[in-house]
Amino acid sequence: VAPLAVERIRADFPILAQPMNGKRLVFLDSAASAQKPVAVIRAIEECYQNYYANIHRGVYQLSQRSTQAYEAVRGKVRALLNGADDREVVFVRGATEAINLVAHSYVRPRLGPGDEILITGMEHHSNIVPWQLLCEQAGATLVVSPITDTGEVDLEDFRSRLTARTKFVSVVHVSNALGTVNPVQEMIAAAHERGAAVLVDGAQSVPHLSVDVAELGCDFYCFSGHKIYGPSGVGVLWGRLDLLREMPPYQGGGEMIRYVTFERSEFAEPPQRFEAGTPNIAGVVGLGAAIDYVHAIGTERVAAHEHALLDYATARLGEVEGVRIIGTAAAKAGVISFVLGRVHPHDIGTVLDLEGVAIRAGHHCAQPVMQRYGIAATARASFGVYNTYDDVDALVRALGKVRELFI
Ligand code: PMP
Repeated sequence: VAPLAVERIRADFPILAQPMNGKRLVFLDSAASAQKPVAVIRAIEECYQNYYANIHRGVYQLSQRSTQAYEAVRGKVRALLNGADDREVVFVRGATEAINLVAHSYVRPRLGPGDEILITGMEHHSNIVPWQLLCEQAGATLVVSPITDTGEVDLEDFRSRLTARTKFVSVVHVSNALGTVNPVQEMIAAAHERGAAVLVDGAQSVPHLSVDVAELGCDFYCFSGHKIYGPSGVGVLWGRLDLLREMPPYQGGGEMIRYVTFERSEFAEPPQRFEAGTPNIAGVVGLGAAIDYVHAIGTERVAAHEHALLDYATARLGEVEGVRIIGTAAAKAGVISFVLGRVHPHDIGTVLDLEGVAIRAGHHCAQPVMQRYGIAATARASFGVYNTYDDVDALVRALGKVRELFI
């Protein structure tokens, strides 16, 4: 694959041009939320400026144009994930809402006392808490397959926890706290052998890898727009059409019905059944522009670039005395978590900010991962299409300052 023209890409992201504390801004927090290219900002602006109206209901031109723009994005998402049908694409607020939707509409009606839901030890809180709430309601048990010292799923352990009681499996594709890329294809196959359907949390994978739901064989897949250079407040649940068709609505309201009387209502087919109320119209349009943007660069090139950065960062951080990388899996993407001696990650983040380097410090909404390693928090650098080797060098230089101040 031809290398990325990173300087040209950086020019697409106006926010990166501003200095930060008098220094060049080095943005290394894309795993929390990625910055937006001009193409996305313009697409949202154009929507509001030229053709905005509520969708689906209008007979007038503007409404038809906004409906068309909104609906066209389903096709882009379907192509991005290699789905089979645009109707498999449900627009939601983000990965969090997608997981809650599956929990309530697919799993809840199938879950009873003594049943189990299986997750891994590296899940984001959004792939833990909805299942805890559900298990509490149903008298079911949340089962966790623990992670290894390197921050990987132990496939043998995972398999051993799949039993006749396992009603559902929900696993993260790429860990936001560790960067681990999970062997989800094997995990899905194992779950299916036991008759359990699988949701894959793709919040950290879709921005960094090519995802093919047909090849993976999953039943549900979700991601958030804001991590793939699109706007916040919009995301996707992809689901197998036969499963979506069997599922009751998640929320009731306008747009999700076929016919309503006070006695009863008939629901629309998927995906409309799951999109009650006026959706984030301009947000979906912006997501479409983001998908086009990534597609034009090429997912493979993005993956290769970020992988090279990750290798470089791993080597350079390894040279900083006192740095311990948390998460040393063989397969990683986009994320490098670390601690530096006994310096609190928040202090690392604050000193780095003074040097213009934006990283995340904390538990990354994955407190059980922190507990696993006996730490309260990590410092986390994460990469996007606009990051360079210079950014990694700036991070390492700034860590030198942290050492001067605290060690
Ligand atoms: N899963 C993972 C792995 C994540 O990294 C995140 C966001 N940090 C989420 C789920 C939740 O995404 P959102 O907050 O956009 O709903």
